[in-house]
Amino acid sequence: MPWRKTSDPYAIFVSEFMLQQTTVATVKPYYERFLKKFPTLLSLSHSHLNDVLALWSGLGYYARARNLWAAMQMVEKEFKGKIPKTIDELIRLPGVGPYTAGAIVTLAYNLPAAVLDGNIIRVLMRVLAIQDDPKLKAVQLILKEVSVGLSAQSKKDQRGKRGGPRNLSLALMDVGASVCFPRNPACDECPCAAYCLAKSYGKQEEIPMTGEKVERPHVRRLYAVLERDGQWLLGRRPEEGLFGGLWEFIGMDAPPGAEPVPAVEENVLRETGLSCRVKEALPAFEHQLTHRVYSVRAFRCHPSASSSKTAALKGIHYERFKWIRPGQINRMGVSAITKRIVQETSRRGEVKHLY
Ligand code: SF4
Repeated sequence: MPWRKTSDPYAIFVSEFMLQQTTVATVKPYYERFLKKFPTLLSLSHSHLNDVLALWSGLGYYARARNLWAAMQMVEKEFKGKIPKTIDELIRLPGVGPYTAGAIVTLAYNLPAAVLDGNIIRVLMRVLAIQDDPKLKAVQLILKEVSVGLSAQSKKDQRGKRGGPRNLSLALMDVGASVCFPRNPACDECPCAAYCLAKSYGKQEEIPMTGEKVERPHVRRLYAVLERDGQWLLGRRPEEGLFGGLWEFIGMDAPPGAEPVPAVEENVLRETGLSCRVKEALPAFEHQLTHRVYSVRAFRCHPSASSSKTAALKGIHYERFKWIRPGQINRMGVSAITKRIVQETSRRGEVKHLY
């Protein structure tokens, strides 16, 4: 992992943002590309948000990219360009919560702090045999105290490069990721086995206890791939909210029971003022978000002859529009759904004709 080889607080900050909700394997190429383009804090804070989003494109959870960009500007203005060292200062930055702040304090500065992500919570709860739901406030307070206490003790016990808060955080992350799995933990290979209470009670599989799994709602999302003179119409979402600041084909959440073709045609008219006709349906696919699952359907559409290309386009869910050539799309910050639709439009063989 390249971010383990650096002690540059800026690079560690970037890696912690990218690793939120995303696997190490996915993050690695994005991290390397990102640091090549923005090697320093100032190179990022002086960049355009659209360039940052373009580089983030495909990694998902785009609020992280916007927050990272805004956080670096705040660090430049309020902290003289140096990533802060304290939890109180760090959590003032956009997108930095207690976990990220603790990770930066320990990993970048080797100072004591609570570091509690899902993996570490599982390890600590098993070692201490805490038989309760980790979402409970009381459990969270205990875990925080234990984490801070271990981290402070590791600082006292540090000998040269051995021990210390940074190594402790990394070790707990590794135990959680490589042996203390949610199911079938590999206790025989675990360095904590000698003092793990859950193991000695035979309760590894029962800890941590979890509440009922919440079903994510399915939402039908429809898109119009509006084509004219070899160009596509994209809309830019407002900065705030889902897919904020990203470009996408003109889309909508379909109301229950709505017929997709008229719904798409009406939505384009409502959003842009252009009347259009659906020509082809592209293959449907699912797109998973943390809080919902989108069933996506996109339709290739042509504006009617009477619709002027140069007419000012209005927008309800988009702050502006752009006609672009397909080759330009890789240089724009587009949503993962739009990327997938572009792939589908290029697989002409799979296109199902409606008319
Ligand atoms: S001994 Fe088993 S349950 Fe305990 S921390 Fe190690 S892997 Fe997890």
